[in-house]
Amino acid sequence: MRTIQKTYQFRMEPTREEEQRLLQFAGARRFVWNWALDRKRTHYKTHGKSLRYNDLAAELTELKSQPETAWLREMDSQALQQALRDLEQAFTNFFEHRARFPRFKSKKRDQARFRVPQRVVVQAGQVYLPKIGRVRLRQHRTIDGQTKSATFKRDAAGHWFVTLVAHVALPDWPLAVPTPETTVGVDAGLKDVAVLSTGERMPNPRFARRQERVLRRANRNLSRKQQASRKRGRARARLAQVYRKIANQRAAFLHQQSRRLIDRFQVVAIEDLNVRALAKSKLSRSFADAAHGRFRRLLTYKADWDRKQLVVINRFFPSSKRCSACGLVRDHLQLSDRFWRCACGVTHDRDVNAAINIQHEALRLLAGGCPESLNACGPSVRPATAGTMG
Ligand SMILES: [Zn+2]
Repeated sequence: MRTIQKTYQFRMEPTREEEQRLLQFAGARRFVWNWALDRKRTHYKTHGKSLRYNDLAAELTELKSQPETAWLREMDSQALQQALRDLEQAFTNFFEHRARFPRFKSKKRDQARFRVPQRVVVQAGQVYLPKIGRVRLRQHRTIDGQTKSATFKRDAAGHWFVTLVAHVALPDWPLAVPTPETTVGVDAGLKDVAVLSTGERMPNPRFARRQERVLRRANRNLSRKQQASRKRGRARARLAQVYRKIANQRAAFLHQQSRRLIDRFQVVAIEDLNVRALAKSKLSRSFADAAHGRFRRLLTYKADWDRKQLVVINRFFPSSKRCSACGLVRDHLQLSDRFWRCACGVTHDRDVNAAINIQHEALRLLAGGCPESLNACGPSVRPATAGTMG
């Protein structure tokens, strides 16, 4: 058996009272975080030693018995302990140079959020939280497997979301032997999201252009409002809403497209593009660029999920410049050359030719056994790493 991690996010629909409770939980989390951070700092200053999680957890219990902080008892104790663990993690990240020194949380600056490590259940369009009860949510899908932890947060537009991580055990059935028919090469394009070795194109969705206009308008609208005015607050909420909607549409589109590829093919081959370098270039404004990294993550975990293979080809492989018919590499090919004719007489569509080369290279690597650029080395090994979901 192999275990796969899957994340789910649902929009919640709390009543006014439930929302008050959620905000209280988030407030308690912020309070515990700030209190613990302060305790750690003072302790370090006076003793030159750091205060550990266990000591803090014991102090927290003590804190709850004091009259002025007794209100903490109305909160879920595991959610409060989770705040201590989150702070511990923030310190680890700081010491390992992954993040800056942990800061005090402010009600104004930081999003309302908290985490419950266990006991959160999503069922029949409701989420159960300890000490709050059942809250309605928009359950667009059922949850497979066992959920481990749940994060609750409110976004800038004031909407509440719950994110759950589920662990699913799947049987370890063997990978199918790849053939040219079941292997597809995918060239990540700029004009199109992707071009397939079958000649098909996956164009940028029509909504991408329109979204850019709506976003620009919302931005302009915000900048015209007076500082700290009520109208400005509303304009900011509106902008956040636009962002959220755009992100949802894009995610849905990429989910659909990656799902189609994984359903249809046994092996999906892509190039290891340097996404960051691409995003810095002039062409970065198009939807496609931002989508590449996300698309790859989706392909990775969907392939993992369905026991298919995602092959990532080395970025220095000359996918565009090589003739897929005769193998000749042409050195002088400009990015603007959409079509080119090889000395062997074949005329190529640049992107389709690249996709076919990527397909050929994947088949060559798979036939060769266990090369480095491959994420699978035979039937007993998992084809992709879990935990990289988008
Ligand atoms: Zn040729």
